[in-house]
Amino acid sequence: MARRKIVAGNWKMNKTPSEAVALVNELKPLVASEDVDVVFCVPAIDIIPVVEACKGSNIEVGAENMYFEESGAYTGEISPAMLTDAGVKYVVLGHSERREYFAETNETVNKKVLKAFEHGLTPIMCCGETLEQREQGVTMDFIRQQVKVGFQNVGAEQAKKAVIAYEPIWAIGTGKTATTEQAEEVCAGIRACIAEIYDDAVAEEIRIQYGGSVNAGNAAELFAQADIDGGLVGGASLKADFGKIVNYK
Ligand code: PEP
Repeated sequence: MARRKIVAGNWKMNKTPSEAVALVNELKPLVASEDVDVVFCVPAIDIIPVVEACKGSNIEVGAENMYFEESGAYTGEISPAMLTDAGVKYVVLGHSERREYFAETNETVNKKVLKAFEHGLTPIMCCGETLEQREQGVTMDFIRQQVKVGFQNVGAEQAKKAVIAYEPIWAIGTGKTATTEQAEEVCAGIRACIAEIYDDAVAEEIRIQYGGSVNAGNAAELFAQADIDGGLVGGASLKADFGKIVNYK
């Protein structure tokens, strides 16, 4: 079974609600595709107007984060039920910026992955090594740990529906893309890790994206790799280039 590609934009902390609607209206005709799942992961305050602006299009909306409790005294946090009620389908979890600046750990990411599934949200769970780890030759050990802990207690049927984004930290926002060989090697390693945790059927179905300075010029080669099922795109998702990335063929 061929896996369907998924291209998701990660807007990070960019675009006010009115700017967000303007961007959706600009990108909507450019990202129309019957072959690729298209997701706009947007800041929490933009979710409601972006869901509204995406109605009738092929674009699904994702959140950039979520808390792992149902509700209560967690000032400033957003619950999974708030996301689903607003029309969100995907949620980015464990992005390296959240791990670095907001102290997210493999364990908290795992709690969020479990909670997302409980609410029918599809997690886009991020993993990836630092430049130092790559130079020390521990890339795959580090990522295997992120994946193993991140998927703890996640059932096989749920895991099949998950998305993993491999994002080498040194390639995020730096303009320095991993080579196709580097990206494919790690994505294949992640798939092998999923086969070890579950079985070949889960590994065949789970979608693994590459992220890190994906642009209109390198998307086609990256997405043509056997184990790369699309991309998580930061900077280029805020421009017309995103349309070229979605329609990379
Ligand atoms: C990201 O934010 O997940 C990302 C990959 O950013 P960029 O495409 O800008 O490197």
